[in-house]
Amino acid sequence: MIDISHQQDQFEVVPTLVQPTLVEVLKSRVKADMAKEAQLPEVQTLSIDHMLQARLASFDPESDDVEAENAFYVADLGEVYRQHLRWKALLPRIEPFFAMKCNPDPMVMRLLASLGAGFDCASKNEIQSVLEMGVNPSRIIYANPCKQNSFVKYAYQNKVRMMTFDNAEELHKIKRFHPEAQLVLRILTDDSKSLCKLGLKFGAPLDTTAYLLATAQELGLDVIGVSFHVGSGCFDANAFGEAVIRARRVFDQAKDYGFTFNFLDVGGGFPSAHVTEGITFEKVAAILGSTVDALFGPEVRVIAEPGRYYVGSAFTLATQVIARRTIARDLSEVLTSEQSQNPSHMYYINDGMYGSFNCIMFDHQVCEPQVLLKAGEYAYQQETMDPLGLASVWGPTCDSIDCISPKASLPLMEAGDWLYFENMGAYTITAASQFNGFRKSEILYTTTEQEVSLHF
Ligand SMILES: *Cc1c(COP(=O)(O)O)cnc(C)c1O
Repeated sequence: MIDISHQQDQFEVVPTLVQPTLVEVLKSRVKADMAKEAQLPEVQTLSIDHMLQARLASFDPESDDVEAENAFYVADLGEVYRQHLRWKALLPRIEPFFAMKCNPDPMVMRLLASLGAGFDCASKNEIQSVLEMGVNPSRIIYANPCKQNSFVKYAYQNKVRMMTFDNAEELHKIKRFHPEAQLVLRILTDDSKSLCKLGLKFGAPLDTTAYLLATAQELGLDVIGVSFHVGSGCFDANAFGEAVIRARRVFDQAKDYGFTFNFLDVGGGFPSAHVTEGITFEKVAAILGSTVDALFGPEVRVIAEPGRYYVGSAFTLATQVIARRTIARDLSEVLTSEQSQNPSHMYYINDGMYGSFNCIMFDHQVCEPQVLLKAGEYAYQQETMDPLGLASVWGPTCDSIDCISPKASLPLMEAGDWLYFENMGAYTITAASQFNGFRKSEILYTTTEQEVSLHF
């Protein structure tokens, strides 16, 4: 029998408080932490503006505090909460399982756990960190179609039952190490309308699903439904509708192999809140919600694996200009128009491609620097009156690939000034390295929402 009942967490979240504050919710989650090492970092209740300003004001360039000039993030947990509310309002039928690889920040994870979200994990360590927060294993989907043997054993030992597959070899592995798994067949969908295409690596083409279902039937494995991923950074909302139609076909096919599917996982690929042109979450929700309702009865449980959606807009990164190089030109010569359009200043900042800005390479992002502090003047979200020049912006390492912006329009900055980058929450810190001895940027927390509702 398939048991997909919604099991309770191993503890109740702040049962006595009717309308707790977001900070209280986090505190009670930390208390329940089974790793017991966890400490709640300070969570302020200031605006992002005030957070940035307070941190810069406390920084004295003459002091001996060598850490204070490092780049830092301001994370707004209230923004994560608002995204959750938006999800619940627009896709009430679809349960979000946060794809933690996108940003496994401990505060973000705890907030989402408290709000009742599930988690999409891809490795033993990811599963372990979710279980240690006191989350019930039924709220985890192990959504990696190609798993290491020992990780499958770990899932078995820890009662994580839902997992995806897309090939027959994986079925044999699961038969051996986790015969009671609740399997979800990941199918291939059209990912041509996405920045990060995942179909090259994962997803069973529809002409292979019959064979896979037959194999699962022979092995006596329990397949409960279908999953897909339209690709990360999807820019065409129709991709979701088409993928659901494909999933329906596999649901019908499964009956021939003795399976009654009752589980649909519509994956990730949902746009972050700062995306307001082209694809928006509203458009995706309208197409996805209606297609799911049209093709799947209420007996089918529907989940999704949003990553970027939850965190993209919640993190702002502040970096210091650590050096400037002026590109020498022979001023006696009249510049050709091409030369005059080339950047004449190179700015070096203290986070880069090997750190937070790995998203430029791995996630195909374009990161726009904005002036945060110039000549002691605070400039967050202010239009500059200074003339703009073309410049390039570079990270701190010794590698020339470490370029953040080859052509940025900036006023003349000095070493010691600060730049900031918005919408840096998705696929940034999570993949940052310490290459060349530079450490990951620290995170300061605030929440722009005070009270939260835990009942939806
Ligand atoms: C990366 C990934 C996600 C999250 O994708 P987003 O585009 O960030 O929403 C979800 N599911 C799977 C299986 C993934 O690999």
